[in-house]
Amino acid sequence: MAATEEQIIAGREGSDSSFVNFNFDTLALHAGTVPDPATGAILPPIYQTTTYRQEAVGRDKGFTYSRSANPTVSALERRLAALEGAELCTCYGTGLGATTALCLALLRAGDRTVVSQAVYGGTVRLFQQVLGKFGVDAEFIDTSDEQALTNALSKPTTFVFIETPANPTLKVTDISLAATLAKQAGALLVVDNTLLTPALQRPFDLGADVVLHSTTKFIEGHNATVGGALITREAKLQEQFYFARNATGAIQSPFPAWLTLQGIKTLPVRMARHSENARRVAEFLSAHDRVTKVIYPGLESFPQFELAQQQHRSGGAMIAFELKGGVEAGVQLMNSVRLCALAENLGAAETLITHPASMTHADVPPTQREAAGITDGLVRLSVGLEDPRDIIGDLARALSC
Ligand code: PLP
Repeated sequence: MAATEEQIIAGREGSDSSFVNFNFDTLALHAGTVPDPATGAILPPIYQTTTYRQEAVGRDKGFTYSRSANPTVSALERRLAALEGAELCTCYGTGLGATTALCLALLRAGDRTVVSQAVYGGTVRLFQQVLGKFGVDAEFIDTSDEQALTNALSKPTTFVFIETPANPTLKVTDISLAATLAKQAGALLVVDNTLLTPALQRPFDLGADVVLHSTTKFIEGHNATVGGALITREAKLQEQFYFARNATGAIQSPFPAWLTLQGIKTLPVRMARHSENARRVAEFLSAHDRVTKVIYPGLESFPQFELAQQQHRSGGAMIAFELKGGVEAGVQLMNSVRLCALAENLGAAETLITHPASMTHADVPPTQREAAGITDGLVRLSVGLEDPRDIIGDLARALSC
């Protein structure tokens, strides 16, 4: 049954059930929206409003104040939930806003979490420097190591937070195994699916309880917005996230939500092309005599190639590599590229090159960076949608400087 126009506009009931039979590429274009019933506009309106006129005291149309919910944001939430194969989603002003809401919703003083050793630097900062002050303990371990995960879960744990592949080392955690171990220990499994997106990896099918996104990256995909999302199949969790978001004022604004809805339409096409381009760039780097190490999940030389083949639809856009001459050579390369942009972000249409040790992971203590494999010489490349010959040409020229 098709979602009613009222449901879509109200954004309350969720139109998800009417979309379950469509395939992923169709969902990316259509899930969660219908043409505007008032005008026929094919794109949903941007509901740029703080408040909503109520019909009578205690009777509203599902929206009261845009810190609690907004119809444009709700449309994005329906689409993201549908793409992850779930029903429920809350969107936030940034990815870290989503991680903050997750933690405030689920943790209290004295609680403990287990977190992947290699994760986005801001996630480490949040767990250590912010939540630590409130008596929440985060143990950072190599979640790709079954024994390490089993040992960590021998103490009471509220949730396991994994990022796979990890930013920037691309280490892969077996989601099914992590879900099984977490469940046995009575813990939830949260998967940060930012690097591959549901186009290439399906955490709920593998047992995850919550999927987190920085929509700033591939989901929106055009370097135009910051945003975040928490997706779940559990009504109780959704209630807790919704409460935390409203209580802390972390909701996304309607305009970035609308831009993200437009960006998502091309997600399947972009992820396929990102992966194809990245594979070609990774092959070029592997064959280059100034490159000592290339980490790319789509290459057979990737240490966890088999697991990546099982868990991912393709290799994704991210490559990490090291050069002869270490840090100095890496810095020289990053200062010499012209087409690739030296930048903090990843997951955009443009190719971005980053020095994690001094940029995205600068706030991670050096010993922890080292333990996670984030060496000072590591270069991170987020391969974009340019013609791969031009990306390779730029890197070849910069490597010869
Ligand atoms: N998760 C991952 C994997 C990231 O790379 C980032 C940011 O780089 C975040 C979460 C945080 O997202 P945001 O920058 O939108 O707050």
